[in-house]
This record gives sequence, structure tokens and C-alpha cells, in this order.
Amino acid sequence: MMGSVEERYPIGVFTSIGAGLGVTPQVVKELGIPTIQLHAPPKQFRTKEHVEQLKRDLEEAGIIVTVVFCGFPGESYADIPTVRKTVGLVPSETRAERLNETKEISDFAAALGVDAIAMHIGFIPEDPTDPLYGEVVEACMEVCDYAKSNGQRFHLETGQETADTLLRFIKDVGKDNLFVNFDPANMILYGSGEPIEALRKVGVYVRSVHCKDAKWSSRPGEEWGEEVPLGQGDVNIPLFLKTLKEVGYVGPLTIEREITGEQQRRDVAEAVKYLERLRSEILADP
Ligand code: MG
Repeated sequence: MMGSVEERYPIGVFTSIGAGLGVTPQVVKELGIPTIQLHAPPKQFRTKEHVEQLKRDLEEAGIIVTVVFCGFPGESYADIPTVRKTVGLVPSETRAERLNETKEISDFAAALGVDAIAMHIGFIPEDPTDPLYGEVVEACMEVCDYAKSNGQRFHLETGQETADTLLRFIKDVGKDNLFVNFDPANMILYGSGEPIEALRKVGVYVRSVHCKDAKWSSRPGEEWGEEVPLGQGDVNIPLFLKTLKEVGYVGPLTIEREITGEQQRRDVAEAVKYLERLRSEILADP
């Protein structure tokens, strides 16, 4: 692989403008982070004028958007049963309108010049004979086809299902632009499997990652684990990076810290330093 370690594995951060739990563009600028994943802003901030302004601001600051993340009104991450009921394309009542919004977000990302969109698609049923499973496969095909018409990949955020279910789902959807945004902490938070083992299984599909850490809950899968600053949880971040390298991942190391305010800023600043150090120790050599 060509390029310096900084080029192959640029630092990134999950960023929000008016929606989602990312850092603000101001924090990205202040910390000098070169890439972001952008949580799609609400509809009223996706107009042509807003896109043009955003594009200028990003170019001026030298920030590259690597992925645009879809989120929808009505989603709630309050607890695991609520996620099951409200998140992504799994809930049938909101699926049609969310599919429409996903296409609008894909167009927004295309207008920004971004070649990947991503989503928490929701809890994919573990049982492939569940009728809901087939419905979600079809919805995902529709997103892939639309994204492809915009020259984009579609990345599934990990965590809400096991690696085996995710692999089966990707194969059943059968689209060549369907990939994975691997979030190791989510595997722990949702209790859906040991993250490094999961990464080895789905590694060939990983095209983006969240560098996030968490501690296991005492009742995995029923209650949330706890999200903690990078390096202080149960993921084993050095092993995570080593495994990314093993599975052939080259791409941004996008920090995600799902809190807000000054503490978030401090934790992200620490995470940047931590990742820069680990990157030179673990990822530098071919
Ligand atoms: Mg994530």
C-alpha cells in the first residue's frame, strides 16, 4: 500500500450539524482533524444553498468528509428495547418514508462529493425465516441501488446483530456496494459479540470504522454497556488497530464519542493523541 501512515490512516471524528451526537465543526477545526464522518443534518439544512455553503466551509478548513451518516426523526437510543422499536429501516411503519429520506441524504452526500453513506439499519432479525428479515433485505437492496446511482457505497453500522447475522444479511442482499462501518464498542454496548472476533469475521467488508470504546454490561443484550473514553474500555484498541491492519483495512480512523460539550471535546482531543501514538507503533510498518 502506497502513502505514509498518515495518508493511509488519517484521523477522523464523527461530526454533527444540528442533529446527532457528533462534535461540532468548530471542534474539528480547533483540533485540526483532517477527516470527518458527517451525521446528515435535518432536511431544512440540506437545501442547495446550505450544501454550497457547507462545501465552501469544509474546503476552506481543509476537512474531507469520508461518510455521510443517515439518521431519522423518531429514532431513540434510550434503551435496547426502544432501539429495537425505533431505529433504522427495520420498523415497518416508518420504512417507506425513511427510504425516501435515505435517498435524499444520498443526494445530499453526492452534492457534497462524498462517495459513501451509512446507517444503523436497526435490529436485523437473527432468524432468516422471519418475514421481517426479507423486508429488511429488500429495503437494503433499494438503498444500495440508489446509492450506486450516485456512485456511492452503503455502509452498515455494526453492533445491533452478531457478526454471523450481518454476514448472512450482506450475502442475501447481494449488492457489490454494500459494506460495513465497524464500531467495536457497539458490539459490547449491545452485547452482540466479542468485537475483535467479529472484526475478523466481517473484515473483508469493512470500509470505515468508529474508534470508540465501551465496557460490558452485567446483563449483555438486555441492558446497555457503558461507553467510555478511547482506551479505557474493554475493546482493546491496540489489538483493534492491529486486527484492522490484518484484515487489510486502510482508511480513516474515525473517533466517535457519544457525549456532548466540553468533556466530549477533551475526550476527542485525548483520543487523537492516543491514536496518533498507536498508529505510529502499530500501523506504520507494512
Ligand atoms: Mg458508531
